[in-house]
Amino acid sequence: MKGNIRVRFAPSPTGFLHIGGLRTALYNYLFAKHHNGKFILRIEDTDQNRYVEEAEQDILDSLEWAGIEIDEGPHKKGDYGPYRQSERKEIYHMYADELIKSGAAYYAFDTTEELDQMRERLVKSGNPSPKYDSITRQSMINSLTLPSEEVERRLEAGDEYVVRLKVPRRETIRFDDIIRGHVSFESKGLDDQVLLKSDGMPTYHLANVVDDHSMEISHVIRGEEWLSSTPKHVLLYEAFGWEMPQMAHLPLIMSPSGGKLSKRKAESDGISINTKDYMKNHYEPEALINFLAYLGWSPGDDSEIHTMESLCNLFTLDRVSKGGAVFNHKKLLWYNENYLREESDQDIAARVKKITDDPSILEADDQFLENAVHLLKDRVSKIDELITMGSFFFHDPKEYDENALKKWKADSSELVSLYRKNIESLSTEVFKADTLKTHLEEVINQQEVGFGKLMMPLRIAVTGLGFGPDLFTSMELLGKETVLRRIDSALKKLD
Ligand code: GLU
Repeated sequence: MKGNIRVRFAPSPTGFLHIGGLRTALYNYLFAKHHNGKFILRIEDTDQNRYVEEAEQDILDSLEWAGIEIDEGPHKKGDYGPYRQSERKEIYHMYADELIKSGAAYYAFDTTEELDQMRERLVKSGNPSPKYDSITRQSMINSLTLPSEEVERRLEAGDEYVVRLKVPRRETIRFDDIIRGHVSFESKGLDDQVLLKSDGMPTYHLANVVDDHSMEISHVIRGEEWLSSTPKHVLLYEAFGWEMPQMAHLPLIMSPSGGKLSKRKAESDGISINTKDYMKNHYEPEALINFLAYLGWSPGDDSEIHTMESLCNLFTLDRVSKGGAVFNHKKLLWYNENYLREESDQDIAARVKKITDDPSILEADDQFLENAVHLLKDRVSKIDELITMGSFFFHDPKEYDENALKKWKADSSELVSLYRKNIESLSTEVFKADTLKTHLEEVINQQEVGFGKLMMPLRIAVTGLGFGPDLFTSMELLGKETVLRRIDSALKKLD
């Protein structure tokens, strides 16, 4: 492995951080930490049309929430800054000049109309994908076709221009990718890539290569969608005479209904695509990280639950798969349950208070809340579900679950009344789960009915629901007064 390991996560601030972007960041981070290297955040904000102001903050918040620590970046000083591309314009200009001087790039002055005309002409003559390339460049207005005085004149006059890469006519461009092995592309499919735009900003390709080189990036780990840009980068590295970082293109994240997990696909599959939604919807960050780590990688054994630290220890690029990885939301919930269950009742109760605005929960006695959490936490996937499912601990049922009511039968009122009589005289000290259960058994034995015949209506009366945590323990926690009041009210409403 090459000397110092330095990797970068290089998002464009064009919107909220995509879950796939978070996985890319995570793999970079795990790789860096595995090798005692550095994880760098570089903001690729050269596309002014797509720039979204809040995006950078969203990226920072998302990474922080996920536990991915930045070693160098716009807000973390390092020796290779600035870490925002918009602040590095001069650097790109300097390198673009260098390419022009060496003959690897050239100025092009063509107007939009001229470019359109060229494309139309080529389409008419039977070329379905017209390009500005080694053939067409010869009949366009650029520093290869104009006399040098004319080029000088135009530059001095401030005429608009772009800088283009002189892509060779017929060449096989080869590189090795750690995940995909040997990759090759034919240069004849490539455009003479614009490197500097007429607004003076570099394109992604120039800025990316210049920065990866000048920030001494050792490994470029990014999504598969950038694979087809890599041949252009190879040409740029060659033109500069620079050693190329090692490349690793991560597999696509696939939607459960097939195809790439695009924004639209995710929507129709009911999957949230932005990290922010997972934050907002109270997912456990450790669970999301664990899940994402396994979305395209595995340590090669049966283990599934790993902390960030253990992921850092285990992660290697040779165990990243080539094929797409399907986003399985159920699996994510499974991870979430696991992490939630490991947390203490006390911690969860404190967090519940932070995320709810229900005054009854906010003012609840800590011990009561912790007990409720204890009863509920094995039955939910996410912390916010504790609040919905456990609402009955804090509120008398206002209405009764419609499905559950189907189980409220003709004899239900009578059975519940009998049970009520049976427990009415219990003192608060013995109003305990065991006793409450014994009394229920007494009633069903006397009445010669099955357990469910009384259990279900009783649950409906006390909780309003047809499911939930252990009923007797819940009744014990609610206390005698509340239980009797709820039974009375149900008997009145449902009889
Ligand atoms: N700015 C690109 C993005 O938005 C970076 C791609 C790369 O890592 O080279 O993902």
